[in-house]
Amino acid sequence: MEIKYLDLQAQYKTIKDDIDREIHKILDSSAYVLGKSVSDFEANYAEYCQTTYCSGVNNGTNALLLALKALDVGQGDEVITSANTFIATISAIVQSGARPVLVDVDPISRNIDPLLLKMAISNRTKVIIPVHLFGRMADMDAVMRIAKEHNLKVLEDACQSHGAKYKGKRAGSFGDAAAFSFYPGKNLGAYGEAGAVVTSNASLDAEIKKLRDHGSEKKYYHDVIGYNARMEGLQGAVLGVKLKHLDKWNAERRRVAQIYNKNLKHVTKPEMHDDYEQVFHLYVIETDKRDALMNYLKQEHNIVTLIHYPIPNHLQKALDYLGYKKGDFPISEQLADQILSLPIYPEMPDEHVEFVAEKINEFYC
Ligand SMILES: *Cc1c(COP(=O)(O)O)cnc(C)c1O
Repeated sequence: MEIKYLDLQAQYKTIKDDIDREIHKILDSSAYVLGKSVSDFEANYAEYCQTTYCSGVNNGTNALLLALKALDVGQGDEVITSANTFIATISAIVQSGARPVLVDVDPISRNIDPLLLKMAISNRTKVIIPVHLFGRMADMDAVMRIAKEHNLKVLEDACQSHGAKYKGKRAGSFGDAAAFSFYPGKNLGAYGEAGAVVTSNASLDAEIKKLRDHGSEKKYYHDVIGYNARMEGLQGAVLGVKLKHLDKWNAERRRVAQIYNKNLKHVTKPEMHDDYEQVFHLYVIETDKRDALMNYLKQEHNIVTLIHYPIPNHLQKALDYLGYKKGDFPISEQLADQILSLPIYPEMPDEHVEFVAEKINEFYC
């Protein structure tokens, strides 16, 4: 028996009739780019995120980029974000023309450390991007307080946290804007590439809708040079069907995480904290025998695990020019050496979760 890391087919089977019907509606209407399926999804997703507006775009990286451009970020500006994130957060900052300033993370939450964030602010800082990594939100009380004190904008990178809550409020509802990715493996995944920006600021929303469509509000009238970053109609249709199931799927991910937390011994497990309703995009343990454990699980028991992410961003070749060196972000570096992402997806049977936990426990005996 193979224990898959995730199983997108298992999910498709549970919603096949609805998905096939909605896809055929798009084929019959030829509404391939934007259109009703996208605007319907935008209205429903804005409401889901407890915001007023949503713009469907073509991926999460461009959601971040368009939001930064709409916040007037460009050359000469600095944008602060977490050292421990997927490279896309940093790519978007670089593509906006700004300089990324990285900050190490808190070892428990693995999200941006508010004390270090405060120390990284300069007179060039314009925006803070807290990343809600692995499905757990950043400490948003602290981030919003610091942003207010220093008159900075906040863009949430919520690409791994669809539906997560902090003190009862949804990811995406805290900052000036928030970016989501609907890459297929995310908690809410399209059948291809897609993303969105949510905000409750009308002029910011109008700016993002303009930027995603070649800087145009009215067809063939271009106020600025924008991007081609529109969401496809097929993706809007798929996301519209899947959004109705998101809360249930997130609850199933929490079921899997709870079984792991109850059964696993000898490894550091994700903290469960009452202020955070986590959605476990990833279930990430820490252990100093990470590589050996990963090999053992694959070779001996056909269990697939992954590492998110093996090389800290500040040590990536592409970011050499920022001048960071080994030792600059010790917590992020230690995480890169010790983390392991275990199989997790909503349809994962209890027995598979228990089997993985049992084999990990046996490894340490
Ligand atoms: C997936 C992801 C992105 C980028 O989204 P894409 O849709 O792949 O462009 C950005 N930030 C984080 C934290 C992500 O996990």
